[in-house]
Amino acid sequence: MESGDPAGGDTIAAIATPPGRGGIGIVRISGAKVPELARAVLGKLPVPRHATLAVACDARGDALDQGISLYYSAPNSYTGEDVLEFQGHGGVAVMHSVLGAFLDAGARLAEPGEYTRRAFLNDRLDLAQAEAVADLIDASSKEAARSALRSLSGEFSRGIEAMVAELVDLRALVEAMLDFPEEEVDPMHRDEASAHLARLRTALAGVLSKSRRGSLLRDGIHVVIAGRPNVGKSSLLNRLAGEESAIVTEIPGTTRDLVREDIAIDGVPLHVVDTAGLRETADAVEQIGVERAWKELARADVVIAMFEASSGIGPEDQAILARFESVLPEGAVRLRVFNKIDLCAAPARVDDNGIWISAKTGTGIDQLRQALLAAAGWERSGETVFLARERHLRALERAATHVEAAGHELACWELFAEELRLAQQALSEITGEFTSDDLLGEIFRRFCIGK
Ligand code: GDP
Repeated sequence: MESGDPAGGDTIAAIATPPGRGGIGIVRISGAKVPELARAVLGKLPVPRHATLAVACDARGDALDQGISLYYSAPNSYTGEDVLEFQGHGGVAVMHSVLGAFLDAGARLAEPGEYTRRAFLNDRLDLAQAEAVADLIDASSKEAARSALRSLSGEFSRGIEAMVAELVDLRALVEAMLDFPEEEVDPMHRDEASAHLARLRTALAGVLSKSRRGSLLRDGIHVVIAGRPNVGKSSLLNRLAGEESAIVTEIPGTTRDLVREDIAIDGVPLHVVDTAGLRETADAVEQIGVERAWKELARADVVIAMFEASSGIGPEDQAILARFESVLPEGAVRLRVFNKIDLCAAPARVDDNGIWISAKTGTGIDQLRQALLAAAGWERSGETVFLARERHLRALERAATHVEAAGHELACWELFAEELRLAQQALSEITGEFTSDDLLGEIFRRFCIGK
């Protein structure tokens, strides 16, 4: 690595647009050799930040494509290095020939996420913002995209930095006190430290709650529909998914394997699984389906336990519910759903904990959707949430544990100071102040090429 160039010396090139045909395709290059490469391929270095018509040529001078070139001079670019974008015609062959021309002229093919990695190493983005770039590209709902954009603009990082600043102040206060014998410490300082700690605890709890809810938008929740054969599980999945995905028949036991659908309710992604009807069976194939159903149940966040509205919960249903207790993971939410109310003159029994629906007519489905969101811990509060990753949640939780532990060490400044140091370290990992190469590799490996 060269000094003053933390991202490394190579000039990288990649097609930034998705493969296939499109109106426009973009080749992007970044690094110190951009001016030289622009002159070699385009015959000139465009004026920075001016859209300039250019013809890309190969080493022999044969024209490959004509398009718009944009030059950003360091450090005012995405990566913080010299960057050139060539916007040509979006065909596979033409894009590859333009890319090839830049490679022949001395660029190296970029690795996945390498532009964003350079942006991070050149302090254009912190790590949480870099992750938000990938999350924005991968967002599967409008809600998730909006939340990723907020993180990209630095809102999440600012929340973290505010807490780090609070910790730095508090540590300064405590370090000063470490020089004095315990009996000489002004009680005022102890009160001040307590007040700081209380503020921190509140701020952390707020960010954690926004992050926990936001992580739902990213990862979604795992919903499993279970019940006896023929209660209407496949019909419900179809109703929720809005299309004929699972096979619906009148012969009990037709969903012999798992049928999965990814759906979104209010922008929250739900991974819904329809399982084989739970019953004792001699049929070997069906038996496998039933075993898979129980395995699926063991990793459910929410279980929709389905019954027939007209008959209510019978002895077989009781047996299934009893087995749930030993199979379902801790914290899994159970929703009791009574189906086929269209067949009942009046609901047989009213169960306060139950939701009464008809998968056939759609009655009660909205109520079920809301119950699913509530079970996932999603409130339509209109409040902003952070599209947090598992890594962020773990770091925030670790910080909260150390802040909590600090609260128990107010009588011993050394231990108090140590807990604060650990809390600060956990928070700083989120924005990438302390990161290992392994972690960076892990994060950027998941990016697409050209980003
Ligand atoms: P599964 O075995 O639990 O997946 O049940 P299916 O979804 O295959 O449904 C079994 C039968 O019940 C089919 O004939 C469905 O048309 C019917 N069914 C499902 N839901 C309803 C409902 O709400 N009302 C009525 N009348 N029939 C339903």
